[in-house]
Amino acid sequence: MTVIEQNLQQIRRQIAAAAEQCGRDPHDISLLAVSKTKPVSLIEEAIAAGQRRFGENYVQEGVDKISLLRPRYPDLEWHFIGPLQSNKTRQVAAHFDWCHTVDRLRIARRLNDQRPDAVPPLNVLIQVNISEEASKSGIMVAELPGLAAEIAALPRLRLRGVMAIPAPEASYARQLAVCQQMAAAFHHLQAVHPEADTLSLGMSDDMRAAIAAGSTLVRIGTAIFGARDAGAANPNNPH
Ligand SMILES: *Cc1c(COP(=O)(O)O)cnc(C)c1O
Repeated sequence: MTVIEQNLQQIRRQIAAAAEQCGRDPHDISLLAVSKTKPVSLIEEAIAAGQRRFGENYVQEGVDKISLLRPRYPDLEWHFIGPLQSNKTRQVAAHFDWCHTVDRLRIARRLNDQRPDAVPPLNVLIQVNISEEASKSGIMVAELPGLAAEIAALPRLRLRGVMAIPAPEASYARQLAVCQQMAAAFHHLQAVHPEADTLSLGMSDDMRAAIAAGSTLVRIGTAIFGARDAGAANPNNPH
């Protein structure tokens, strides 16, 4: 068994345990393997271990990996989870299946206009700055209904829910409180947009709290693929 396979099995057990602890069905929580900065050979080990959903942060790196792996593994699902500038939207629209980091209408419109007709609509999550950090991407909760309504009207996008990267918290109780605020925002969104079925919340350090709060998609990198090089630090999460 490869290390990647062992790691994946352990994460799946942790997800199942966290779900059972709060009375949720583990099948309602999907695992996104965050493969940024990691080589294709490790992604292929994860594929061999049954992993199908992968997240990438950097547009060009993601597009290179997708171009290589899509022909061989057509059933993989590729999620863009990094900060998105408008000059990179065309690449994301052309190659990815999901984008988690939409936080302004201008970006949403470009993704919509640039999504090729030959592929299904792009699945979109609105990024919420739930910890209200000045330096972070994402909209405030109060702005969510307005942006959601505008995105829902774009025919080449499918509004699937919300995503957040909460600030690190010292205790489980604090993590849970922030994750529950995010879940409340998600439930308000669902009341108006019942098609929104995805709460992308939880990373290696706050996965348990995110699942307790209702996350449906946890994004795990380090615990699957090992630590990333310091030179390739995550721009979303410099802590
Ligand atoms: C890098 C990253 C992750 C994975 O973080 P780990 O701490 O390696 O599990 C999850 N979500 C986003 C948005 C990321 O950029």
